[in-house]
Amino acid sequence: MRRTTPPRPLDVTAVFPELAPMAHQAIRLHPRPGSPTPHDSSAGGPLLWPADEPWPHCDESHEWHDEQEDEWHEGPNPMLPVVQLYVRDVPLLQPPGQADLLQVLWCPFEHEPDYKPPTALFWRSAAHVTDVLATPPGPSAVEYDEYVPEPCVLAPEQVTEYPHHMELSEELQQKLGDWSRWQAAGAGVDSSYAPCPKSFYTDELSVAPGWKVAGCPPWGLTDPVARLCTICCAKMKPLLTIASYEWDGSNHGWVPYEDQALAAVARSGVANSPRVQISKGNHLQLYVCPESSDHPHTDLIQ
Ligand SMILES: [Zn+2]
Ligand SMILES: [Zn+2]
Repeated sequence: MRRTTPPRPLDVTAVFPELAPMAHQAIRLHPRPGSPTPHDSSAGGPLLWPADEPWPHCDESHEWHDEQEDEWHEGPNPMLPVVQLYVRDVPLLQPPGQADLLQVLWCPFEHEPDYKPPTALFWRSAAHVTDVLATPPGPSAVEYDEYVPEPCVLAPEQVTEYPHHMELSEELQQKLGDWSRWQAAGAGVDSSYAPCPKSFYTDELSVAPGWKVAGCPPWGLTDPVARLCTICCAKMKPLLTIASYEWDGSNHGWVPYEDQALAAVARSGVANSPRVQISKGNHLQLYVCPESSDHPHTDLIQ
């Protein structure tokens, strides 16, 4: 499977050269319905999990009702696979040591105090997994079905991004809002953005929407806040963005060529193949410490 993002309507660094050093590489994952195996990169697919390694559980409090026994239970909840990424498919990953596989799981509950699903992150070396766990436990309880991803295969694609406008200096933000600067660029400028030029940058030129690795984080729910490692205080790096949709009405320029026909069909669902909703239409960003993979990751809803 291949997905190809159309080229940006113009080279934004030709209009604003000060953006050039702020370019970041991201890998869009483009999850689409499929039947991944443990040997594939996937969203919501089976993990290459060693048979002799305990399955991760969420230790927060859960209660669920067993319909057959008409009983209430409480206890830890087996976590669910969210993504599995092989470095061969997603070369921007920077695994520690000999690892070549990243696995992310979560608990399908919005736990207090931040009302987000707790995530667990594992790096491993695929060659060391000789005996794969055949039947991993499913969650005992699910608070929201929107946190149970539909199995999807991935079509990783590297793109260039520029920071969200809220991360730019006041001066540069003002320049982005000056339509005459855009007009001077000529071809490629979408005149429908004349009343709000900054939206042209936001929607079409800066942050790629959808599930992705690395790149520039989306903001908007809050102002940008640096994520600092709780162990060493280093500024953490965006590892993974889990999105509620890959595009909406505002950013159709990012729809891959291969999906454009289906994207035009109402309710095709292709913009959200994993059918995940993060806190009702937001993103869950995972960050890691650049100094050590032993330092805990963190996450944030935006
Ligand atoms: Zn939980
Ligand atoms: Zn650290």
